Order: sequence, then structure tokens, then C-alpha cells
Amino acid sequence: MKEQKFTCNPTIIQTICDCGGVFIIDRSASALTSDPPKMKHICDKYGKVEYFQSLYPIVFFEIGKPIEEESPSKVVK
Ligand SMILES: [Zn+2]
Repeated sequence: MKEQKFTCNPTIIQTICDCGGVFIIDRSASALTSDPPKMKHICDKYGKVEYFQSLYPIVFFEIGKPIEEESPSKVVK
């Protein structure tokens, strides 16, 4: 077994408001007790409030190509 480095491509999924702003999760607010629970999001432009099941923005990483180590002697084991 060995460790291998990979490049990665970060991707963000955002919800866009009608005004062109972006909805951001309000982590200070508690979830709506709906089924399923929904989280409060606030438009960053005019402050419109919407409730979504997911927590936006969603960030995920796509694994890219393996990175070849130039100097294996520097790898800490
Ligand atoms: Zn808006």
C-alpha cells in the first residue's frame, strides 16, 4: 500500500435567486421542522429568504490525474 497524490477539480453548486443573487445557507438559523427538514438560505443580494432541503452552496471535488512525485526522498513515511 502507498499514498498517491491526485489533482482535483473543485465544483460548487449554487442556487441562483430571481434577482441574480446567490442563496447562502444561514447556519445561525435552526432548520424548519418540516419533513424532510429544510434549511434557511438568504439571497446575498437583496436578502430574500428561501428554504431548501440541501445546504447550499454544495462543494465537491472531482478526482483528477495522479501526480507523479518528482523526488520520492522527500516523502515522509
Ligand atoms: Zn435575490
